[in-house]
This record gives sequence, structure tokens and C-alpha cells, in this order.
Amino acid sequence: HAAGHSPAVVIGTGYGAAVTALRLGAAGVPTVMLEMGRLWDTPAEDGTIFSSMLTPDRRAMWFKERTEAPLASFLWMDLANRDIEPYAGVLDRVDHGDMSVYVGRGVGGGSLVNGAMAVTPKRWYFEEVLPQVDADEMYRTYFPLANAMLGTNHVDRDWFETCDSYQFARVSRAAAEKAGYETAFVPSVYDFDYMRREEEGLVPRSALASEVIYGNNHGKRSLDKSYLAAALGTGNVTIETLSEVRGISQQQDGSYALSVRRIDESGNVLGIHQLTADHLFLGAGSLGSTELLLRARDTGTLPNLGEEIGQGWGTNGNVMLGRANHGQDLVGSLESGMPALGIDAWDDPVNPVFAEIAPVPAGLETWASLYLAITRNPERGTFHYDPGADRAVLDWREEQGQPSIDAAKQMFDRINEVNGTSYRYDLFGDTRAFENRFTYHPLGGLVLGEATDLHGRVKGYRNLYVTDGSLIPGSTGVNPFVTITALAERNIARILAEDVRTR
Ligand code: FAD
Repeated sequence: HAAGHSPAVVIGTGYGAAVTALRLGAAGVPTVMLEMGRLWDTPAEDGTIFSSMLTPDRRAMWFKERTEAPLASFLWMDLANRDIEPYAGVLDRVDHGDMSVYVGRGVGGGSLVNGAMAVTPKRWYFEEVLPQVDADEMYRTYFPLANAMLGTNHVDRDWFETCDSYQFARVSRAAAEKAGYETAFVPSVYDFDYMRREEEGLVPRSALASEVIYGNNHGKRSLDKSYLAAALGTGNVTIETLSEVRGISQQQDGSYALSVRRIDESGNVLGIHQLTADHLFLGAGSLGSTELLLRARDTGTLPNLGEEIGQGWGTNGNVMLGRANHGQDLVGSLESGMPALGIDAWDDPVNPVFAEIAPVPAGLETWASLYLAITRNPERGTFHYDPGADRAVLDWREEQGQPSIDAAKQMFDRINEVNGTSYRYDLFGDTRAFENRFTYHPLGGLVLGEATDLHGRVKGYRNLYVTDGSLIPGSTGVNPFVTITALAERNIARILAEDVRTR
């Protein structure tokens, strides 16, 4: 084969992509990963890799002129949002009319910016969401494998009960329990032992220094330290950064041709390169992979793609809200950036809600309790291709978020009533109590069994696969990366056994 050809190409370096590249590399298949963001392994002049949430700089965001933290108007966040120089930073907010989607950019994708909550979904709900997937096999083999590979760990209960870092979570737990709700500890890929030593002052602070959405300088087992390190360790995987795939077409011999736009860290286009692959895996995330296939279908470069492309997108029912605490219920000035507890009412047949108790890591007493609720919102969005802008546009109306609000409101009205507390109306830019105009958990667009077969093979094409969150039809009932990882493990095992010639 000519230069620029590869047996396997994986687009993206998030969860689905990282799993796929490791398993291909371990099977001896030379694999190239293409990532539009940069590699985050080198300290800048200030000695840190990532910028802090309280004093963000250009490293914080993907080509923005101002940081766009989700709490738009909380007094300290207003001060913390900064004008920045456009740069290939780590967090992107992609705006689609009434819905803004936060995603990670860089080697590791969402793992660089997320809250590290590593939650395996309730089995009954997984069976409902993906009924054609063998749940026995998932819960016996692939969920345990995913958690082991990701480095999922559990907070020490005794430390949790006495530490300063989770006083905010204990205050929220007390309020929830008073209203008859149960809470559940949330496993994490942030190293809780490191966090304990942060609080003791033994190591540099990260989770306890308000680091999370713009990257963690310490403590977090992001994909570059787990799956991607293992993938590179096979000697068969290479990662090309600042390389955005723009177009996909199929050649006469059945292989795929990619056009890849290379940029520098300031966004200057260095050139468009061509690359070909026998097997092509899309791991560019729900937004990224869906856009690539929509563009390919509607511009005619992959004309056999069907109507299912761009369907079945959801927000995982995300809705954020805050409660105002009584003056004596101090949450403290130290809040871990990594949540460790959730209010778990997912088994409630009438109103299932899983509300993670989120920090407001402002470094000062806030008298506020923040929550990111995951609800069972049945609304789904669809994408269409806009030829003028050459992008996929999400069709999602603000009122489609209303079921999420209604569900969260039922839970938190009760918590407020029993505790004599109220909502915070000053968090989201106006006076609303519930924020459902953004999501951290985009899911769907290329749904398993619809746009693809039951193992992620794209319908209408051979050797073309989807590996990421776009396979999941809009909801998992918990934070999604463990589900994405486990499903990718399951799918690539089958694809390696049946489709790929290995050495
Ligand atoms: P992603 O992780 O999104 O990776 C896609 C990658 O592809 C990115 O690196 C992107 O830059 C790259 N890419 C996109 N398009 C192209 C292209 N055309 N060419 C080349 N590269 C491309 N989930 C949890 O389970 N627990 C949490 O605590 C949690 N907290 C979160 C907090 C925040 C702030 C955010 C934003 C998300 C959070 N999530 C959390 C969600 C989780 O991170 C995502 O569900 C997960 O990362 C999705 O994985 P993925 O494999 O689908 O794709």
C-alpha cells in the first residue's frame, strides 16, 4: 500500500476510540488515531498543563474569545469567566440553537474535562435502553472489564464522613434523607487516595484546587493515562493530533479515503491531507461522528447511508439546579471538584431521577447546594446537514427539556419543602431555577441497531464502524462513560473476531 494508507484508522481519542485502538493494536493491527485537539502532556510557562477554573486562560476553551462556564451568573463565576485568546483549548461548547453541548477536545476527549464519575447503569434500565444487547454478557464481562481498565475506585467511607472536601455532599445528603430519599456513593476514576493526601497537604492540589472542567493537573486517570497509554504501549498505535477529519469517501477497492485538516495550536490551517484505511472506526463522539456521516451522506460521498443517520439524540435528561441552604448549614470553603455522591431515585417507577451532588468549587462558602440531575426525558432530537455552513445542525427545542425539569422539580420541591429551603435563582444568567439548555451527556445520533447493526457496523457499508456515545439512544440513566467504554469493548471483540485479519 501507498504512503498514507493504514489497515485501521480510528477518528477521535475519547472512550469509544481509545478502547478500539487498544484492542486493534493488541491484536497486531497497525492503527492510526486522528484527533482534532492537542496532546496535553507539557506544562506551559506557568508550570502547569491545564489552567485553573478560577483563573482560566487560553488553554481552557476550544477557540473562544471568552470562557463559557455553565454557571453563567453565579457571582464568583462571573468574575471567573475571562476574555481569552482563541486557542486549541480543552473544553468546547458547541451551540445548536436552544441546546449547547459541552465536549472535551484533545487526546483523551471527554476524559480530560469530565467529573470522573464512573457509574455502571442499573441493569434493568440498560436492558430497556438496549434490549438487543446481551445484558448477561455486559454485566459479567464488559462492565467489569471497562471499570478495571479505566481505574475505577471508591471513596473510603470513613474518610468521606470526616473530611472537609465532602462536607458539601454530606449537607446535601442530610437534606435528601430528611425528605425520604436515598443516596448512593459514586465510583470515580479520580484517585481518592490522592485526594485524601491533597487534603492533608502532602501533594499538589487538583480536585481540591477547583480543577475539573478545564482539565486536572493531578489525580485523574484520564484516558491518556489508561486506555491510550496501553494502546501506545502495543507499539502498533500512533496518534496524530490537531488533525480534524472533514470528509469520508469510499474508494473502488472498498477502502476509505479521509480528508484531514491539520491546524496549529492557534488555528492556522497547515494543510489538507489525504489518508486511506481498510477499516474505519468513528469515535468522534455523538456530535462528531454523527456530523461526519451526515455530511458524507448528504454530499454524496457515502450515498448508501440511510435515514437513520442523525436520529435518536438525547441529553441523558440532564438538568442543573441549585438550592439555597440555611445559614447554619455550611458547606465549607473547600469542595472537591469530583462528585462522590448522588441522590438515587432511579428505581422510582413514577419519577426516576439520579441527581449527582455537584460541587461549587469557588474556594469560599457559597451557602448553595448544586445538582446535576439525570432524568428519564423521552424527548429526542435529530440532526440535519446544513450545506451552507457545512455542519450538522441539531433540531432540539427548549420545551423538549421540560420533562427533565418536571422530574427534577418533583424531587427537589419535596426536598425543599421538608427542609424549609428554596431554589437558587441567580445561577443561570437570568432568574430561572432549572438550567436545561446545556448538556454534558450528548448521546445518540447513530443508534445501535438502527444506523448500525448490533455491533456498530454502519448499515450500507463494509468495514465502517461507530464506537462511541452516538450508539446509545439518548439515555443511560447514569453518567455515560462507563457504558460507552463497555459497549465499545463488546463491539470491538466481535469485530476483531469476525471482520479484521489479525497477525
Ligand atoms: P468523546 O469523549 O467526546 O471523544 C470524541 C473525541 O473526538 C474528542 O477528543 C474530539 O476532539 C474528537 N473529534 C471530534 N470530531 C472529530 C473529527 N472530525 N476529527 C478528529 N477528531 C474529532 N461522563 C461520565 O460518565 N461521568 C462524568 O463525571 C462526566 N462528567 C462530564 C463533565 C463534563 C464537563 C463533560 C463535558 C462531560 C462529562 N461526562 C461525564 C460525559 C463524558 O465525558 C462523555 O460521555 C464521553 O466523553 C463521550 O465519549 P465518546 O467516546 O463518545 O467521545
